[in-house]
Amino acid sequence: MRYDAAAVLIGAAADGSDRGRNDESGSSEAMMRDAPTDIKLKRAEGILEVTWRDETPRRHPVRQLRCECGCAGCIDERSGVRTLDVDAVPNDIGITNMALVGNYAVQFSFSDGHDTGIYSWDRLYGMPTAE
Ligand SMILES: [Zn+2]
Repeated sequence: MRYDAAAVLIGAAADGSDRGRNDESGSSEAMMRDAPTDIKLKRAEGILEVTWRDETPRRHPVRQLRCECGCAGCIDERSGVRTLDVDAVPNDIGITNMALVGNYAVQFSFSDGHDTGIYSWDRLYGMPTAE
């Protein structure tokens, strides 16, 4: 159950607050949201359930996460125009792996083979929800 392992990892990152924070990265993420306390993949529902400190879990459709990918392969970095054909994203797309990026983001591997999208905590928090 690698998803459970990922959730444990994320919980650890939330507690070790000053570990791995990259101050010289020149990151464009101005806001540094704390890591979620839990991330659960509801595979049967196609939902990623993200719990932030002191909040009820937010439920994000996995397909929406894939469609909102902000990587250079999905968004033209100069124009900001989405180059990803969202109609081509399968309805039953899943997440095959999750990996922490430092303590500021998570990287998903999707079942269509796409794995270059990095979702900062701030972006993840702002993703469309199922409800
Ligand atoms: Zn992408």
